[in-house]
Amino acid sequence: MPPGNKLSPHGRKTVLPTRVGAARPCRASLPARPDLAQNYAMPAYTLVTFGCQMNQHDSDRIGEVLRGIGYSEVAEPADADLVVLNTCSIREKAEQKLRSEVGRMGMLKRIKPGLVIGVAGCMAQQEGERLAKRMPQIDFMLGPDNIGELPSILADVELGALPRVRTVFDLNSPQFLSAQAEPGRTGATAFVTIMKGCDERCTYCVVPYTRGPERYRAAREILAEIRLLVDAGVREVTLLGQTVNSYRDPAGSLSVALGAGQTHFKHTLRAVALEDESEFPALLRAICAEVPELARLRYTSPHPRHLTWSLILAHRDLPALARHVHLPVQSGSDRLLKRMLRRYTVDEYVERVDALRSAVPGVTFSTDVIVGFPGETREDFAATLALAERIKFTGFFGFTYSERPNTPALKLTDDVPEAEKSARLEEIFQLTDRHRREHLESLRGTTEIVLAERRGKNGDFMGRSERNEIVHFICAGDALGQMVPVRIREAYNNSVRGDVEPGFVLAPGAARPQPAPAVRRALPVVAGP
Ligand code: SF4
Repeated sequence: MPPGNKLSPHGRKTVLPTRVGAARPCRASLPARPDLAQNYAMPAYTLVTFGCQMNQHDSDRIGEVLRGIGYSEVAEPADADLVVLNTCSIREKAEQKLRSEVGRMGMLKRIKPGLVIGVAGCMAQQEGERLAKRMPQIDFMLGPDNIGELPSILADVELGALPRVRTVFDLNSPQFLSAQAEPGRTGATAFVTIMKGCDERCTYCVVPYTRGPERYRAAREILAEIRLLVDAGVREVTLLGQTVNSYRDPAGSLSVALGAGQTHFKHTLRAVALEDESEFPALLRAICAEVPELARLRYTSPHPRHLTWSLILAHRDLPALARHVHLPVQSGSDRLLKRMLRRYTVDEYVERVDALRSAVPGVTFSTDVIVGFPGETREDFAATLALAERIKFTGFFGFTYSERPNTPALKLTDDVPEAEKSARLEEIFQLTDRHRREHLESLRGTTEIVLAERRGKNGDFMGRSERNEIVHFICAGDALGQMVPVRIREAYNNSVRGDVEPGFVLAPGAARPQPAPAVRRALPVVAGP
């Protein structure tokens, strides 16, 4: 047994701290020996996050696990003993990006041999064994379902284990790591995972292969986490899931939501609508009833086919539910939607958007679109432009199609030339940029309730309105974490600026800390349903 290690009373190996500079610093046992922490430098970690909110949420949990075993966070890899690269394989060139990041860290490792490099996220899940062989600088690979095992993996690395690949789906008893309310770190907004995996099989998407089948978290656990966060000062919660609105409570504790099983849609067969009903609206109602202090509730990303009548009624009835939905459509052509296996038609999508607009006046929509999917003709693309013109999305995330390993779309010929894909993407960006600017212009003179989330560089505050507009404003006191009425004065390309309504008084003692800046190579949305 290496010096400094001993068997605990339970017969498990415990790793004692080593002095900085002598081999690797200890990671796994510091909390049990706070007295030792005074004599030994705390190990430090840094996290680099690629991808969507789901990955950001996983990074938050990884950070909590690491801090729980005595690590402290640093911004620069050069100051860290452990670097975790939390990867995304949704978009193109994921492996090249990972290689270049691992290469950079590998160079650092040459001058700092004790540096531990871990790779987490979808790339680890999908390509773990292969990448570990190809990139010997990597000490461990960690799948999204294995974050809780990080302490034991680090202990093994400490003992000199060969690179470990831990990427097992927790199919039988799914685990959901709860967010921790940490003084000085818990900001005004938080993500809460309610399900993981995906049972859809959209032909272009790797998620079912990197995140596994759908598994749901018990409603009681979700409610307890939201209660904990709100008691710690969180004002806004975003529920997370790959198809967040397919949620069902595995414990069956939720009451049936108003409107469940009803359909008033012309374009959806009744049998299909019944099949699409989930318990997500019931969960939303339970959250608002049991945690009434929660000021704002969002969710991402919903699948259009689960935007059911009962969910529309929940939007109508729950004031905390934000008047904004990110509803990925991917294409405006039925022919393409079929090739993508999206399981709805353009008419169905539009009908549900219209129904939500009738129930909740002013609700805004953002979306994801893929251009240049195999077989996409100019007519198909024109249909997508027409759909964008019809809906007038206020947020838009467009991507050109590229092949992904293991996806069914590999059987189709990637036949749209890259130059044509780029031209189509540019064209749709121009259209949707115009829609967003028109929308932001229309806000001049209105008063928006803004949750102040951050301070800008010049001391102003930045937050989001209920409808997801980014709002800048100046406030004399510390507005972080407060709901502030802001009269909109100017509109820019992506945001607006305004002034705090005269007479508004900040609530005493309600300010929240600004969340620690995360190192991100990020896309703005969950690569969505
Ligand atoms: S695009 Fe969304 S719904 Fe479709 S398979 Fe991927 S994660 Fe699931």
